[in-house]
Amino acid sequence: MISSKYDVVVIGSGPTGSVTARYAAENGASVLILERDREPGIPVRCAEGVSHNGIAPFIDIDQRWIASRIETAKLTAPNGESAYLYNNGIGYVLERRLFDNALAELACRNGAQLLTKANATGLVWKNNRISGVKYTHLGQKKEVLCDLVIGADGVESRVGRWAGIKTDVALKDIDTCVQYTMVDIKVEKDTIEFFFGTDISPGGYVWIFPKSEDTANVGIGISGHMATEKGPKYYLDNFVERHFPKGKITCRVYGGVTTAKTLKKIVKNNIMLVGDAARQVNPLTGGGIAQGMHAASIAGKIAAEAVKREDFSSQFLKKYRKEWDIRLGNIQNTMYSMKEKVINMSNDRFNRLVKVCQGIPRDEFSLKKLFTEAVKGDPKLILDIAKAFVVYKMK
Ligand SMILES: Cc1cc2nc3c(=O)[nH]c(=O)nc-3n(C[C@H](O)[C@H](O)[C@H](O)COP(=O)(O)OP(=O)(O)OC[C@H]3O[C@@H](n4cnc5c(N)ncnc54)[C@H](O)[C@@H]3O)c2cc1C
Repeated sequence: MISSKYDVVVIGSGPTGSVTARYAAENGASVLILERDREPGIPVRCAEGVSHNGIAPFIDIDQRWIASRIETAKLTAPNGESAYLYNNGIGYVLERRLFDNALAELACRNGAQLLTKANATGLVWKNNRISGVKYTHLGQKKEVLCDLVIGADGVESRVGRWAGIKTDVALKDIDTCVQYTMVDIKVEKDTIEFFFGTDISPGGYVWIFPKSEDTANVGIGISGHMATEKGPKYYLDNFVERHFPKGKITCRVYGGVTTAKTLKKIVKNNIMLVGDAARQVNPLTGGGIAQGMHAASIAGKIAAEAVKREDFSSQFLKKYRKEWDIRLGNIQNTMYSMKEKVINMSNDRFNRLVKVCQGIPRDEFSLKKLFTEAVKGDPKLILDIAKAFVVYKMK
């Protein structure tokens, strides 16, 4: 049964909503998650790539939600030359439908309640204070009261705006993406691929994330301000025509990914934002699953602490912001600076970067080696960009 009052209401049961709810409930808070869709994880709007190290701290790895295990990344330069990057740890291409469900189950097993088909439509204000959430469920208008609302409602988040938090993002800090899930194509099951170049994907990249030997998520992300003349679909269709002319498309995904810094404000009295809603996405890769789960683990614990102290003031909730900045927020700022360089990188520079990677034998591949070779072969090559490609090979 759904109660009329909870300590915490989380809006959204994506990875970050479920992880926040789980940590808050595990640490003693009563928690309700409102999810507008029929079940968590549907529809999937994601290439589904994560690193093992990014998600393993928050959930035991289960083969049921892993489509493929990734050991290598392959970069292809505008001139068609490729290089493999080794020794970067293990990654996965997920079945997000099942992964998101598993995270929601974990939240429920730890005490949270989940109400699906519950579309949050606004906040309940009492005496100028956020005191709950308005939502519709099965055609009926409802309200639930709480001390703390957590907006985990994704890239199109409205919760922050309802609370008066500035959530807009500049066009250049949002990638517009199109992705096809394709079958009947030949891919390397343990390798994720990235293609760069101004004619291939201006200010972004094309990805191939394999789900089996003949199935993959093939997608593209283009910086918003470079997608005004020809959109991502134009470039992706060209790419698919050239690389997989006989492949069949079984799913089409359109969506945005922020490549911004974390929002200036992610808390206010009685409210916190987490994940895509707070723009906690790696700006260089567009990866938000692991980063968001990390933020969610902090937010959930601090939410529970707020319940224990009965202190839901922004002053107290700012602890979440501080800890986020120490753990990943400051790194996100560095990634943002790198992204600013990468989106303006010339084809020539991409060609040279791949050339440097090619020169390193497989069993000698390491970050240190890449730096050494980059300095020897091309002192002008921006080293931090090379670093970014290797460290963040998975999103
Ligand atoms: C094309 C594409 C490819 C991507 N590829 C990758 C990748 O390979 N790796 C990676 O790490 N990241 C990737 N991302 C980004 C990743 O999908 C997000 O960062 C991640 O899903 C963020 O999780 P979240 O929980 O914050 O939001 P979401 O997963 O978006 O979850 C938000 C939830 O809130 C619900 N909701 C929204 N509004 C309401 C409301 N009013 N009431 C109730 N519920 C509501 C939604 O239904 C949804 O379930 C990709 C994104 C796109 C668009």
